[in-house]
Amino acid sequence: MTTDPEMPEVVPGSPADRLYTAELAAFYEGRPGTVRGLMRVRMSWADVVDYVDDVLADSLVRDRWPGLTATPVPEKFGPGAYTTGKGEIHLPPAPQGPIYLLHEIAHRATMKFVEDEHGPEFCGVYLVLLRRFVGAPAEHLLRRELARRDVRPSDRLVDDHPARRMAA
Ligand SMILES: [Zn+2]
Repeated sequence: MTTDPEMPEVVPGSPADRLYTAELAAFYEGRPGTVRGLMRVRMSWADVVDYVDDVLADSLVRDRWPGLTATPVPEKFGPGAYTTGKGEIHLPPAPQGPIYLLHEIAHRATMKFVEDEHGPEFCGVYLVLLRRFVGAPAEHLLRRELARRDVRPSDRLVDDHPARRMAA
């Protein structure tokens, strides 16, 4: 999500708006402990750090986005989360669960596509991460809500993370 003071307001109908409303429709209506309640989960900061480490250490992630980094940083100034080009993912002090973390990690994996911040490339990567780390039901739920908003996630999967290009 976003509350970066340097980011513009979310424009109705924009890619960000469509993604945020799709996430809420998919994951905010249910109880914690269910797929539909995934955005109501709260994690300790230690669990957040472990979760992000586990995602980055995963074989699929390392193969697809070599050199990908994401450092959780506690954000004092707002309830939302955002990602910076310096590799930090800023999160609220009482951080939300995997949906928020995977969303921010997907930003890290697609940083090159600045103009596509919440567009098809981003959504394609995000869905892959959801399927891998939360499960197929979560992926299908979000995919359906995105389709309802005319979002067609890319299958291309960004695999030329800047770290790979620098190493090449
Ligand atoms: Zn975002």
